[in-house]
Amino acid sequence: MTQQTTAPAEPTAATASGGAVTLTGISKTWGDFTAVQPLDLTIPEGSFFALLGASGCGKTTTLRMIAGLEEPTSGTVRIGDLDATQLPPHKRPVNTVFQNYALFPHLDIYENVAFGLRRRGIKSVKKQVEEMLELVELGHLARRKPHQLSGGQQQRVAVARALINRPKVLLLDEPLGALDLKLRRQMQLELKRIQTEVGITFVHVTHDQEEAMTMADTIAVMNAGRIEQLGAPADLYENPVSTFVANFLGQSNLIEATVSGTSGGDLLLSGIGEGSLAMPAARCAAPATSGDKVLAGIRPEKISIVHADDAAEVPDGRNRLTGRIVDASFIGVSTQYVVNSPWCPELAVFSQNVERDSRLAPGAEVVLHWNPAHTFGLDAAQDIDAGTGEAAA
Ligand code: ATP
Repeated sequence: MTQQTTAPAEPTAATASGGAVTLTGISKTWGDFTAVQPLDLTIPEGSFFALLGASGCGKTTTLRMIAGLEEPTSGTVRIGDLDATQLPPHKRPVNTVFQNYALFPHLDIYENVAFGLRRRGIKSVKKQVEEMLELVELGHLARRKPHQLSGGQQQRVAVARALINRPKVLLLDEPLGALDLKLRRQMQLELKRIQTEVGITFVHVTHDQEEAMTMADTIAVMNAGRIEQLGAPADLYENPVSTFVANFLGQSNLIEATVSGTSGGDLLLSGIGEGSLAMPAARCAAPATSGDKVLAGIRPEKISIVHADDAAEVPDGRNRLTGRIVDASFIGVSTQYVVNSPWCPELAVFSQNVERDSRLAPGAEVVLHWNPAHTFGLDAAQDIDAGTGEAAA
């Protein structure tokens, strides 16, 4: 697959919609299979935007419709204030960087980066190419051929080659997928730095939730051709609106409970724990009143774990559950426990390794406790395993 050439963007004027990309009612159907359900999406100007989801959820198809590489079944694509729906790829002010770099093997790095300018008939390319190579910190390798570079360096050349065209939007389709984990982490920070420096809107497709959270300022979580939730990484993490988002973005403990009443701004939950548990009503994704079933969600790192012998030390006002450790994995920075509780099997608890209690080993009876304010609530009618990889297909 090759990179597109690009119509250079006009200076970034504010657009009518305020979005660098505005999708309205966009969908894609092949035969009787719908890969992307009709969706509306505004990608803010200057943002680092991630389309995140499991394989096959429709994120690449959405990106390709923005690029003009796939014709939408319905809807419109605006890039800035330009209606691009009917425009071929090379007439759109976008560039795409693919996973396989698609560099020209016979050209050196300098000429690879200069390519887009030369193709547009620009003669004096030196200043721009040097600036671009400096941006991706490869000036010293300008005369090497692509095969003489590492994977991460080649990917940076691909980014430089795309950015030199000054696209209004840079589309990145799993660009780090071929790199090993350590290099991926480095490149995530590199790409973020480059985006901040150039200020161009980046739209990044990935199935890696950590990657999306590291780089993006806004994430759209996609599932089965729909956007499940859109927001800043921390908002999505702290306030997921569905079991899919709660499980796909990080890890969540989801505990079935019944609302038994209210206390101040809290919902009281029965059916779990020795006493009742509390959860802020404002953190419940769907309105719930007495008698309603809900899923109480709590992230593993928000839970404290103590040996049952120390139960009396748990402060009042905490949500608490008893259980037994069935697994403990020491992973350096933390220990990850799996705890079976009579009210919920296989609760995950991540405990920072500050002062380790040697009694906290498989078989130990323990008390788990957490601040009620850290509990979030989800509609219990959903599949509790959605997004875990163990969901019903
Ligand atoms: P991945 O991370 O694996 O690339 P994705 O979320 O990007 O997944 P898409 O490539 O957008 O997913 O594909 C969405 C769905 O559409 C998949 O089920 C895929 O098999 C299907 N699909 C993609 N292209 C075509 C095509 N040309 N004809 C028929 N079905 C297609």
